[in-house]
Amino acid sequence: MRVIIREILNVGGFFAGETVTLAAQLWPDGGPEQIITIDDAALVNVTARHLLTPGMVLDLTLAGDRVERALLLGAPDHASLRAAWRQPSLELLSAPRVLSFRCPACRVWAVAVGDPPVCAVCGQPGPQLDQSSSRQLTEAQA
Ligand SMILES: [Zn+2]
Repeated sequence: MRVIIREILNVGGFFAGETVTLAAQLWPDGGPEQIITIDDAALVNVTARHLLTPGMVLDLTLAGDRVERALLLGAPDHASLRAAWRQPSLELLSAPRVLSFRCPACRVWAVAVGDPPVCAVCGQPGPQLDQSSSRQLTEAQA
């Protein structure tokens, strides 16, 4: 299920366990807030659990009541996404690639997935890099 974080209730430390507890609503439907506790080990692409903030969109895989897998998809702004998101390691690329962008459709700063890139939150196409300008640059250098 997809949720949007409304409030961070507790970030567990040494004694409380390696968890983060948050209030969240289903995304994009809203509805009642749910209290969700996520184990640190379930955070797939998050650099540190204390960097999660309200407004972030997570994709959760549940096993019963437990969150088995939590994937960060988007954030309210670029800075918080950059801080909390562990980017996939990139192989050498032949062209520049969009990693994240502000999605006009769902109005979050979204992780870009796929090629051509789409918004990880809502699936809208991401910005297209201008291939012709990089080609011109290459030709100019040749
Ligand atoms: Zn979107």
